[in-house]
Amino acid sequence: MAHEVVLIPGDGIGPEITSAMRRVVDATGVAIEWDVRDAGAGVMEAYGTPLPQHVLDAVGRAKVAIKGPITTPIGTGFRSVNVALRKHFDLYACVRPCLSQPGDGSRYEGVDIVIVRENTEDLYAGIEFDEGAAEVAALSELVSASGQKAFRPDSAISVKPISIEGSRRIVEYAFEYARRCGRRKVTAVHKANIMKATDGLFLRVAREVAQRYPDIAFEDKIVDATCMGLVQNPADFDVLVLPNLYGDIVSDLGAGLVGGLGMAPGSNIGADIAVFEPTHGSAPDIAGKDIANPTAEILSAAMMLDHVGEQEAAERIRRAVRAVLAEGAAVTGDVRRAQTGSARGAVGTQAYADAVIASLRAEA
Ligand code: ATP
Repeated sequence: MAHEVVLIPGDGIGPEITSAMRRVVDATGVAIEWDVRDAGAGVMEAYGTPLPQHVLDAVGRAKVAIKGPITTPIGTGFRSVNVALRKHFDLYACVRPCLSQPGDGSRYEGVDIVIVRENTEDLYAGIEFDEGAAEVAALSELVSASGQKAFRPDSAISVKPISIEGSRRIVEYAFEYARRCGRRKVTAVHKANIMKATDGLFLRVAREVAQRYPDIAFEDKIVDATCMGLVQNPADFDVLVLPNLYGDIVSDLGAGLVGGLGMAPGSNIGADIAVFEPTHGSAPDIAGKDIANPTAEILSAAMMLDHVGEQEAAERIRRAVRAVLAEGAAVTGDVRRAQTGSARGAVGTQAYADAVIASLRAEA
């Protein structure tokens, strides 16, 4: 029976990279019933929202979706359509593997880390007050009454909620992932030396959870030291579990270790729904030019195939991508530039996908 998968092309480079991804997935022969649903700026006029209800209904039905990046149009009431989708389905775990591939154009070799980012809390919760709002004055009074140093009256405020439940389930997810995937260590990343209440809670919960997984090594590391350590010696790391904002930032750092944003896939996992998407955004500067690198989107599809039980096809896609990158004759401009300092000789998005498909077929 065909797997039903919702495909949200998104905008910017989304339509190009998702069409490349779809051709690669279809070339594996796995039967997928693609339910294509548009979201983002392009549907604003028709539906009055960038995230129409029928898209949410379709994802809720299929339980599996893969998307391209979506730009959030200004003045829609959404801070981010991508974040809204994660929140709507409580997709609390964002999993982003960063794996070196020969020919990926990176300065590093042998990087193999997995970033597990909490997806629903933290400064990303979207609780904010503008400078001058009545709530800011009320908060100021509360802070003064608590005996803590008052903040300047012309401040804007963002609230950083980190809960025991939210922390526990993401750290548990990281340990379960480590166990399932044969990984050796989980590092909890925080800034508990400064944010003693919020990050302190995250760290305390992480230590408690770690005790239940004696077979997996555990350490904690301050986020700034983590960034330095990742750049100096990424081999020191295995699975990293982070609150939302640090997870966002360290994800891009991780992508930089393995060839850049065009290389880094990802998934957003909830109790029974999973949405797959690359780490990068919609890159409007290169949209519509057939130059975007679809590798991150294609590798996100491999994660999606793993999720629906098609591990063999997922592996075939990963091997084909590896082979094309290693050969180096058909790579996109970002990779070629990283390797040689110039994009000369690079191929376009679709030609790269053609090379991946040819490699898939050659192996079959
Ligand atoms: P967001 O905040 O939505 O994550 P961003 O502002 O971080 O977005 P991105 O859209 O992720 O920005 O990309 C930053 C830049 O990296 C782009 O402008 C583009 O030049 C480059 N880039 C991103 N994705 C790709 C890709 N798939 N292929 C080639 N270059 C890319």
